[in-house]
Amino acid sequence: MNVFTCLDRAAARFGDRPGLFSGTEPVASFAEIRRRALGIAGGLRRRWPQGSRFALASENRPEYVELLFGIWAAGCAAVPVNAKLHPKEIRAVLEDAEVAALFASPKLARALAAEGGAPAAAIVISEADYAELLAAEPLACASVAPQDLAWLFYTSGTTGRSKGAMLSHRSLMAMTLSHLADLDDPDETTCLIHGAPMSHGSGLYILPYLSRGAAQVVPASSSFEPDEFLDLCDVHRGCAAFLAPTMVQRIRRAAEERGRSPRHLRSVVYGGGPMYVEELKKARAVFGEVFAQLYGQGEAPMTITGLSRREHAGASDAVLGSVGWARSGVEVRVAGPDGRTLPPGEVGEVVCRGDILMSGYWRNPEATAQTIHDGWLFTGDVGSMDETGCLTLRDRSKDVVISGGTNIYPREVEEALLTHPDVEEVCVVGAPDPEWGEVVVAFVVPRTGASLTHEALDAHCLARIARFKRPKSYRWVETLPKNSYGKVLKRDLRLRLG
Ligand code: ATP
Repeated sequence: MNVFTCLDRAAARFGDRPGLFSGTEPVASFAEIRRRALGIAGGLRRRWPQGSRFALASENRPEYVELLFGIWAAGCAAVPVNAKLHPKEIRAVLEDAEVAALFASPKLARALAAEGGAPAAAIVISEADYAELLAAEPLACASVAPQDLAWLFYTSGTTGRSKGAMLSHRSLMAMTLSHLADLDDPDETTCLIHGAPMSHGSGLYILPYLSRGAAQVVPASSSFEPDEFLDLCDVHRGCAAFLAPTMVQRIRRAAEERGRSPRHLRSVVYGGGPMYVEELKKARAVFGEVFAQLYGQGEAPMTITGLSRREHAGASDAVLGSVGWARSGVEVRVAGPDGRTLPPGEVGEVVCRGDILMSGYWRNPEATAQTIHDGWLFTGDVGSMDETGCLTLRDRSKDVVISGGTNIYPREVEEALLTHPDVEEVCVVGAPDPEWGEVVVAFVVPRTGASLTHEALDAHCLARIARFKRPKSYRWVETLPKNSYGKVLKRDLRLRLG
């Protein structure tokens, strides 16, 4: 059950059609992607055994697609590396994963060389050794066991040290099928635009889209440019994308500046972090009913619950503020401290089970034992389910503020503050307090030109949420610190509180 079969399928059915674009330029047909991937597999297996791990340290590039499939065809595992990490952090990932070799973009290869080089053979994409690899005798796709490692994904580490989640071919196939069943229904008239970093779990969306004959479009800019994204959606037909909530906000603003929505945006799956209801409404007003939501994490890639496009249409604010229902092939429940299922409405930890789950953390049995119990993944997210199974996340358990013994969920306070017209962005954290244990502090980015006061926001909160939940203090900031996936780094904000 090699996930390479997704490419086999596309090449057999849509062989000569353009399968890969760099911006608006076609660079390979489906058959060519397959040929190149099998060449890469041949080159890799000449030097390294089946089961080896290969890191991909690159900004989004068209080669990413052939490399991923080349690694899988060789019966090996890909280790995606976030290109925005510091070279020292990249080294730490490469050492931890003990990669056989590293594929690096010229830019990252230079950055790594300046910091003392990579701890493994480095093959620079687009240079001579890469061309040599491609020229190798193609290999027939390796046969692998369903549980064999395919994707070793390092979590973004927003709540602690980054850990390698081990995902098998079976898990990636479960993700692919669940995506097709629940979130989007691509076909050969669809183009998947890779706006988010392909090193993120969303890079795996290559699988469901490619298997249905959807072309892969890699923007020419190495980082996300909302204007380029909108331009691509004017040129390509049937555009689909995964976008983190902050990216949705950026393209919405860019579209508003143009005074129109792009011509061919067909579907946007958002997730990976909270999408606030206010922002979702603004985005729907500009782009229409194109949105579907996923809730997942590196340990269950992109697949725990979701809200389809159909479920967005006519949904109440409560549903729009939720993360929807369990995805196909995944069981989801809310557990109390003893691990038992809580009744509807009660708040506990979200746990899930299914083929989608990682088999564990790479070489970290302690962390695995803390996270997986009796086959259930404890996500570290806190939420509640209604009678229909619709899940609403409150927050990550580590972000819950406990003030005077009462739990306050930052997300609820953030949602309330975001309904103020002069609040552009907000992040709520707990600050240590001798009397209350913790108190709520809000970091607020005011809308350009607006002058906000503590009193105005206090009154706004009092009209919307319980008195004890409202922030005790406000910090005005120009921007919020975010990681390269667009997630707010709460730990950096907590540090600013001293
Ligand atoms: P680490 O686990 O290393 O701390 P991280 O928290 O960034 O890093 P990821 O796997 O990158 O981990 O992100 C998964 C988390 O993102 C989820 O556990 C959840 O808290 C949040 N998340 C994902 N999708 C959604 C969503 N649709 N709505 C709200 N939050 C989401």
